[in-house]
Amino acid sequence: MFFNKIKHVIHNVLGCSLYLACITVNTVQSQSLDKIEVEDIKIIDQRELVIDGNIVYLPIYNRYHHHIFESSVHTISDARIKNEVFTSNWNTAVFNTFWNQKLSYPFQLHFEDEAFSSPVDHNMVVTSRYGWRRGRPHQGIDIDLVTGDNVKAILGGKVRYARTHGGHGKTIVIRHYNGLETVYAHLSKYEVKENEIVEKGQVIGKGGVSGNARGSHLHLEVRYKGESIHPEYLFDFTNDTKVRSQDIVVTKKWATVRSHTSKKQSNIIIHTSIEDINTEDTASVKKIHIVKKGDTLYGIANKNDVPVSEICKLNEIPQSSVLNIGQEILLY
Ligand SMILES: [Zn+2]
Repeated sequence: MFFNKIKHVIHNVLGCSLYLACITVNTVQSQSLDKIEVEDIKIIDQRELVIDGNIVYLPIYNRYHHHIFESSVHTISDARIKNEVFTSNWNTAVFNTFWNQKLSYPFQLHFEDEAFSSPVDHNMVVTSRYGWRRGRPHQGIDIDLVTGDNVKAILGGKVRYARTHGGHGKTIVIRHYNGLETVYAHLSKYEVKENEIVEKGQVIGKGGVSGNARGSHLHLEVRYKGESIHPEYLFDFTNDTKVRSQDIVVTKKWATVRSHTSKKQSNIIIHTSIEDINTEDTASVKKIHIVKKGDTLYGIANKNDVPVSEICKLNEIPQSSVLNIGQEILLY
């Protein structure tokens, strides 16, 4: 009965027959009177939750077994396409196929290209950056466009996903030859299909406002094995369209949304080898707020687009702490 009740609630919340991870397998087994067989439950997607400024993934199960994990259907003989990058964790039904894996930092990426293609036909205007925004993680950058404008693949690769994905709206995910994925969200139209090979600069869709978009723009994310990376760390979004370095080391900082704010560009220092990442700590810019009359932790956090939990952690103070005028609060 209890399980039925949860099912009912979740059915109403999601509006379809999906089950969240909060129904553990144990619960399912203990409710064996219910007709659901454990083997019938397969993960078909996941939802992002933000807990204390950290992004966690909850799997979503379908009720019956479907052949979700498709074999790849490419026929192109390009040797690069035979790369295992396009077979491991390849699933066109799931936005993040690495949701249950932990990526260890730092890791090295190699690009064959020295330059990428602009994702839009006109000059790129970045209207919002990767970082904390309005109390939420903003995991990509926003590039201005008008609904119906072309959206182009920034590098060559293979379309891994072309579906509606929650607040992203109509979304295309392309996996590139080095395993990196780029995500193009809020589209109005798809111009490619899943499993299609795309060239750098190829039109893949039209821009729009689908999902939770405030006005038409392209929301562009860069992900590696499920983790979002600060796009501006890898790519120069000026008209130079340069890949910052063909060999680049990604540290935890460049894949942590709360270490950045969407309002201003982070100080970008590129690491081309594992040896030079030690400079990162000394290179990061610290910002301090001096407490004025009427300031609260929540007010300071909102004004600076930093989570309260992060300020408390940085300053080693509890969230309930009373601030004193003149006190220095480290923001990031
Ligand atoms: Zn965005």
